[in-house]
Amino acid sequence: MTTAHPVILVVNAGSSSVKISIFSVPEAAHEDVEVLPAQLAHGQIEGIGVAPHIEGRLADGTVVADERFPVELVPDHDAAFRLIQARLQEGLRDTPPVAIGHRVVHGGMDFADAVRIDDNVIARLDALVPLAPLHQPHNLTAIRAVRAAAPDLLQVACFDTAFHAGHDPMAQLMALPYEYYEQGIRRFGFHGLSYAYIARRLKQVAPDLAEGRVIVAHFGNGASLCAMRGGKSVESTMGLTALDGMPMGTRCGTIDPGAVLWLAAQGMTPDAIQAMLYGQSGLKGISGVSSDMRALLASDTPRAKLAVDFYAYRAAQEIGKLAVTLGGLDGLVFTAGIGANSPDVRARVCAHLTDLFGISLDAAANGDNCQRISSDTSRVPVLALQTDEEGMIALSTAKILLNGG
Ligand code: ADP
Repeated sequence: MTTAHPVILVVNAGSSSVKISIFSVPEAAHEDVEVLPAQLAHGQIEGIGVAPHIEGRLADGTVVADERFPVELVPDHDAAFRLIQARLQEGLRDTPPVAIGHRVVHGGMDFADAVRIDDNVIARLDALVPLAPLHQPHNLTAIRAVRAAAPDLLQVACFDTAFHAGHDPMAQLMALPYEYYEQGIRRFGFHGLSYAYIARRLKQVAPDLAEGRVIVAHFGNGASLCAMRGGKSVESTMGLTALDGMPMGTRCGTIDPGAVLWLAAQGMTPDAIQAMLYGQSGLKGISGVSSDMRALLASDTPRAKLAVDFYAYRAAQEIGKLAVTLGGLDGLVFTAGIGANSPDVRARVCAHLTDLFGISLDAAANGDNCQRISSDTSRVPVLALQTDEEGMIALSTAKILLNGG
């Protein structure tokens, strides 16, 4: 691809995929700019180490890459980045990127905002690897690969935890001996880039709501909920790691810690337990069918139905819990792959919320994935909004590029 203007790259390195988006550099970058930087193209390599597949599209949908590779050619993330770098060098020959923004899952207690990456930042992110074992190492692999190839290029880390950095100790504590809290063993919360985008979007589409007590449900492959007051996060269902809270595609969500002790007592190693809690649990574990919500909704096996029912029940429970934190509820927003696109899941969650919160959906608006999906008589407005984590990363990166931070 050839573009006429300088570009910002956004890198989102997941456990088996790397997503790259190309954005134009905006004229101005600050919180109040109406529109996020324009996305010019998006590409991804999925199935790293299993069935590698690279694809890329321009913003108008034109396919510019669609290729499958033998697994020996892309066995790991290092190889995936080399392949991506080669493709980007070719595609962006005339306009090399002026900055790269990375999604970084864990910023721990150190980072309450996006940060320019240097050796010191890399060392501090490295120390957080045990708290996000399936994501943070890949985030760092991407950062190091760019640093090796272009040491002077501006790289910015944008954190999933940062939006929650202002949480009160009530939202951060776990009832372990206090010295662990002091060492940073505390609840952080994740999906913050998505929540920051929704807080911003609410100001545009429902300014009254944006000022109020709102629960946002980010339901994608990972899933969590966030309680916001006046657009600021006050509580999240995720904790020290991205395992806590809602059951997810393959992650367990909240479980009795005694279950982990029981597994260990059966002789399972920490690595095996970790692999199970992150990769074999949640919707996949319960259904035995798939981690993918669309596949479960299409399946007629009793366990697929059980998994979806449990998901909706647990989501509603978490909403009740967060409403206690907020002291009431002025609005509910669904977002991410499932939240923004699945009328069925939203209806199942909201069915649990009718008696307590007077929530009712407009079946047609919900079925059409409209922005406002609650009925006129619903005591609490309910919205379905697309999220844009990559746009938020592009904005934060542009802020550091244009304003120095
Ligand atoms: P990630 O967390 O990897 O970014 P997404 O936000 O894209 O994931 O969410 C992926 C999930 O969204 C999958 O479970 C997928 O089945 C689900 N999903 C996407 N579209 C729909 C839909 N129309 N109906 C139900 N589920 C959907």
